[in-house]
Amino acid sequence: MTGFRIIMPELPEIETVRRVVGPQVEGRTFVSVRAADNRILANTDPPGLSERLTGRTVVSVGRRGKALLLYDDLGGHTVIRFGMTGQLYVCPPNTAEERHTHEVFPLDDGMELRYVDPRRFGHIWHFRRDEEDTSGIRGLGLEPDDPGLDAGYLKDRLGRRSITVKEGLLDQTVVAGIGNIWSDEMLFEAGICPLTPCRDLTDGQFEDLAHVIPDIISFAIGKNAVSREEYLEGRGRRYYDIGYLRAYGHEGDPCPRCGKTFVRDTAGGRGTCWCPGCQRR
Ligand SMILES: [Zn+2]
Repeated sequence: MTGFRIIMPELPEIETVRRVVGPQVEGRTFVSVRAADNRILANTDPPGLSERLTGRTVVSVGRRGKALLLYDDLGGHTVIRFGMTGQLYVCPPNTAEERHTHEVFPLDDGMELRYVDPRRFGHIWHFRRDEEDTSGIRGLGLEPDDPGLDAGYLKDRLGRRSITVKEGLLDQTVVAGIGNIWSDEMLFEAGICPLTPCRDLTDGQFEDLAHVIPDIISFAIGKNAVSREEYLEGRGRRYYDIGYLRAYGHEGDPCPRCGKTFVRDTAGGRGTCWCPGCQRR
């Protein structure tokens, strides 16, 4: 597997967006909002978003799972989910507008925050301080780096379930932010077959998962590190370096650990690539 292809952004990719875009918008005020696409706006419409955000100052930018959060000076917050192809970047206003630029947020320093999404599976919400957040982030499980994420937590949440461990890792109510790519990498690292039912996992395997989940996520965040200029050059998207993935997308290739050939299966409708030599049930 070589070169760039469309991959779904997961926690490490959204964390990269936060690290690059966050400092560019924190302390900045939205001078207007040019919102064009109703499908992207989940709980308001273009005039509504403009009314909510114009004049608001971003006080901080956070992340929960795969969602980016922009907290504003009136105690409200904007939630952005990137779907398959969402891109968010800050650029000078004279930058040519890409196709599928759905929302543009001019900032008080003369720059523009833009949301681009060719497939339009992403969503943007805004909640005022007194509005309940219905974006789904309230139901998310622990962050991978939460100290509470240990073998006991995973066993408690997954240990009696018949779903495969692949599906268990993708369950956002257990651990937030893991998607198809990084779950394959975690299971390879832990030496666990993705088709193993969660209820068959041993205590040792829960221990291994509790270690590889934060390790793989922090490895991925490190690999995604990108300068502001490189990020804009790639329009907030093409910094993903997939050349170092060891399992995901490697069906038919020899395993770097044991030499057997990677196979591809489906678990709960999601493709998963694994090594029958060193990932055991
Ligand atoms: Zn192997």
